Amino acid sequence: MIIILRESATDEQITNLVERVQSLGLQAHLSKGTFRTVVGVIGDEEKIRSAPLKALPGVADVVEVQPAFKLASLTAHPAPSVVEVGSNGNVAKFGGGNVGMIAGPSAIESAERLDEIAGGIKKAGATVLRGGAYKPRTSPYSFQGMGEEGLKVLREVGDKHGLPVVTEAIDPRHVELVAEWADMIQLGARNMQNFVLLTEVGKTNKPVLMKRGMAATVKDLMMSAEYVLSQGNPNVVLCERGVKGFDNACRNMYDVAAVPQVKELSHLPIIVDPSHATGRPELIPACALAGVAAGADGVHIEVHNKPEDALSDGPQALLPDQYAEVAGQIRKVAEAVGKTI
Ligand code: PEP
Ligand code: MN
Repeated sequence: MIIILRESATDEQITNLVERVQSLGLQAHLSKGTFRTVVGVIGDEEKIRSAPLKALPGVADVVEVQPAFKLASLTAHPAPSVVEVGSNGNVAKFGGGNVGMIAGPSAIESAERLDEIAGGIKKAGATVLRGGAYKPRTSPYSFQGMGEEGLKVLREVGDKHGLPVVTEAIDPRHVELVAEWADMIQLGARNMQNFVLLTEVGKTNKPVLMKRGMAATVKDLMMSAEYVLSQGNPNVVLCERGVKGFDNACRNMYDVAAVPQVKELSHLPIIVDPSHATGRPELIPACALAGVAAGADGVHIEVHNKPEDALSDGPQALLPDQYAEVAGQIRKVAEAVGKTI
């Protein structure tokens, strides 16, 4: 950590700062320039992170050298992590050269419908079936999901088609149940900073799909991943799904630059979700390919066999045939960047 003092800082203020740093069990190294003094702090940054040093008189700024997301950082783990989802021979991989392909409807609506969609996406090359049993809807009057019954349907259909399954947990009280039925637990954009939920999910042994909050910075996303990792669950896959922007032409603003940014900071895999990022089926293929070209370790796309009848996110769903076409293109881009599905 580096502490930059104000030009006006007095000798007394500098001494006071140095004493404060030393009282935390850390060393302070003073560097006096012509106009300003800079203090380098040596030792465990964690000890000093919560001390409000910026509030001390004479201090202009405090710059962190080590990121606060210790476990998620590349420093902690320089090799890319590979997250495996599923069991019994049906395993999808994310990271370290593997591109995971998550597809399925926004919500689980019935066994028949999910079965038809799962058949289509499996044929197209998807490696994980998605579907929400608990839906975080903007309106309390919208379809809220099938709940526990939906979890069972998802499990059955996934097993039938040889696809591991991912579904969202929106309530800490449901985490155990979701972990019982699913191979991967999704943490939705609206819940990325629900720290109680993150902590519960971190206590399970199921891989986690962590979606970026719609007003969250990349650093916020890393800190949320750190919550899960700090509970002992190392299997987190991050997901860029668009952030709030000023242009309402798309549902959200697809931040493809988040992908290489995460790669600079972390060993965790990051995938892209062009469905929620754009909300527009015609834009999904291009945005999916851009994500993989930018280094994404997977693609998450909503697919429905009858978008016009869907109970959630129908207008952004691709038809199974459209998914098959983009999946073929994703495969080519993945190969071009040295990855495999
Ligand atoms: C979803 O995956 O259906 C969903 C609700 O996504 P998000 O949390 O990214 O909005
Ligand atoms: Mn959705």
